[in-house]
Amino acid sequence: MPSKKKRTQDTGNLFEVLLRDLAFQFDPDKFTLTLKFPPSDLLQELPTSLDQVIPLTPNESQEAVDLGLTDYSELITESDPIRVKIHLKAYIRLALHALKYAHPKIPRTKWIEVIGLLTGYTENADTPLACLIVTDAFPIGHGTDITAQINNPQSMVKVYKESSKKNQIILGWYHSHPSYGAFMSETDYQTQVRYQRLSSNASPLTSPIALVIDPTRISNRSYGFKIFRLKENLSTWEYPRFEVLNSSLESLPDLMETLLPLSEGKAMFLEYDHD
Ligand SMILES: [Zn+2]
Repeated sequence: MPSKKKRTQDTGNLFEVLLRDLAFQFDPDKFTLTLKFPPSDLLQELPTSLDQVIPLTPNESQEAVDLGLTDYSELITESDPIRVKIHLKAYIRLALHALKYAHPKIPRTKWIEVIGLLTGYTENADTPLACLIVTDAFPIGHGTDITAQINNPQSMVKVYKESSKKNQIILGWYHSHPSYGAFMSETDYQTQVRYQRLSSNASPLTSPIALVIDPTRISNRSYGFKIFRLKENLSTWEYPRFEVLNSSLESLPDLMETLLPLSEGKAMFLEYDHD
């Protein structure tokens, strides 16, 4: 794999593009956002969705749909290096986010999708063993029974800022398919193209991933999710091999902090789009 620019740098560019389009100026040293335009201009400039920030070309609108007809487990070769390692805390947060809006105590007809961002860092970024380490999941919002999208681009900016404080970056996104299995729909494909085009300079092995979870498939045999990424041509799917890192004493304090609000009868977290 030819050596390419560092992922952190690319992601910096990625969000500078986003921030520029949002008419903000971001100072990475001070973690401050400054308005570049007077508020009245901003109101006209501010995009209301990612569609406006990153328009798709016509031929990117109807390609590479994985309808989930293929056996996912056969697409991952055991000899492939692990490409994504997910900390237990991140998994628990995204799984509970999905379950919050689709669990047995809610009538099935009212189950809805959720969406969020995955953050962390890269390991061996410029080598053939490049791997994404997902340390956290940030719940952004929820949608309808068949769709969820990030409505407010500023939610992404907030997550970007929070992860920057820990020297971490946005590695991809997650969303749920309550009861209908983990696959990439046509809309999901279009969203993924936008994310991957934003970081077109990143090595293909570290470009953003899409995690889809069906919370009804969580069992003692399955985490209930699959991970997807487009190859460099943006028209063929690949299926990065992943593992969820086992609970260790090291992650226990984080885990307890995540679950503590539940024990107090509070909501575990707020959604960025809705808080
Ligand atoms: Zn979907």
